[in-house]
Amino acid sequence: MVARLFWLLFPSLSLLLGTSLLLGPAGSLAKEYQTVISLLPYLLTLLACLLGYGFNRSHVVLGALNLCCAYLLIKTGLQTSLNEAHTYVLFVLLSLLLPIHIGLIAIYRERGLLTPYGIFRITIILSSYLTLYLAWQNHKLGYMLADLPMFTLEMMFPQLYLSQAATFVFALALLPASASFLIRRTHTEASILTSLLTCGLLIAWFDTPVISALFICASLIALCLSVMQTSHDMAYLDELTGIPARRALMAKFDTLGRRYSVAMMDVDHFKKFNDTYGHDIGDQVLKMVAVQIDKVSGGGKAFRYGGEEFTVIFAGKSEHECMVYLEEVRERIASYPMRIRNQSRPKDNTKGQRQRRNRADPETVHVTISIGVADSISVAEKVDSHPGPMDVVKVADQALYAAKESGRNRTVAAHQTSSKKKAPHHSTAHKSKVIAQGGAPKDFAS
Ligand code: GH3
Ligand code: MG
Ligand code: MG
Repeated sequence: MVARLFWLLFPSLSLLLGTSLLLGPAGSLAKEYQTVISLLPYLLTLLACLLGYGFNRSHVVLGALNLCCAYLLIKTGLQTSLNEAHTYVLFVLLSLLLPIHIGLIAIYRERGLLTPYGIFRITIILSSYLTLYLAWQNHKLGYMLADLPMFTLEMMFPQLYLSQAATFVFALALLPASASFLIRRTHTEASILTSLLTCGLLIAWFDTPVISALFICASLIALCLSVMQTSHDMAYLDELTGIPARRALMAKFDTLGRRYSVAMMDVDHFKKFNDTYGHDIGDQVLKMVAVQIDKVSGGGKAFRYGGEEFTVIFAGKSEHECMVYLEEVRERIASYPMRIRNQSRPKDNTKGQRQRRNRADPETVHVTISIGVADSISVAEKVDSHPGPMDVVKVADQALYAAKESGRNRTVAAHQTSSKKKAPHHSTAHKSKVIAQGGAPKDFAS
């Protein structure tokens, strides 16, 4: 979980770090180069909007528009000294508006772009910046200086350009931005959270040459990348379980060397399970099974092969070497107490509480899986030629069939299929029992 969050943030944080390191060299570039850099944010905004629109990611478009509007204001109104009253007020108000919009974008639910919601949100962003721009252009802002509360004018830290109010608003916007990231855990949410951090630094180090162009570029690139990463995930990750899907397995096959093992896994009596508890509970079981399989150690990589079948690939390992890791997975799943939530739970909370109190024993289910494993070297010896990964899958499937035939809830290696080795007897949990509420245990293993 922490690793997943880290990898979600990694691209945008690396972009922030990379552009921070470029600040020094970029500042000493010739004027012509700086002009080229200063045009990049517009190009990237266009790209982000096209990608966001094309992939129906309104957060990306809104985020890009917010950054672009702020950048336009910086380029038009904030290229002179902040000692002038109207420039200073513009800077102070901009440093509040930018995080407010990022915080709002983080809160928004995906409602499409060219829908009443989408159009309303775009209008809010554009009109707020336009109002600020018009007030600045008509020299109205300078007069506001005397009326602005002190905390909007006084800086939080002596070396930084963050007013006390801006610091507060950035910190406040951090709440929805990080909550939305932690709850939704998407690449776009990660890039929006990092764009808040990037914009905070942009305002704090405002006097650094080319910082606005570079930091806005970093945030816009992160937004564009997030669209591509999301599409990659949609293609390569299984929607239900979140682990890599069949397409990713096929891509993995291309990277395997001469020696590897393929383990095919199948949930035992899953059809019966679905018929008893319904498809939704069946889905919950598949998620649990996927989580457990994904924890496989020994360098194994888990994939959902399809339906209730999973595959684990061990690069560089023989089937004998994999057995211990596969047995760990099988045992972990068999001993996992899967609590079944009552589907007919009433919507009324007090009624539901009463029903739960009356229930003596919550429904706990144990599911099991069968595993068949084969390695490329023994398959090569059998077929007397260099096998393709699908040949190894076929042999692993035969081993899986043997595991099913010999009683399920066991791991069978391809070289054992002739001797049909019996699995050791473990605790009763491995026998896939369903403890029905108030009734006799149902045995799904028979
Ligand atoms: P065995 O022990 O021999 O594997 O028996 P089984 O019942 O698991 O095998 P079978 O292939 O007959 O049934 C697989 C079932 O898996 C049928 C299908 O309804 C169910 N299934 C496949 N994909 C999904 C899914 O995504 N969600 C749910 N809930 N069920 C699924
Ligand atoms: Mg099956
Ligand atoms: Mg099955």
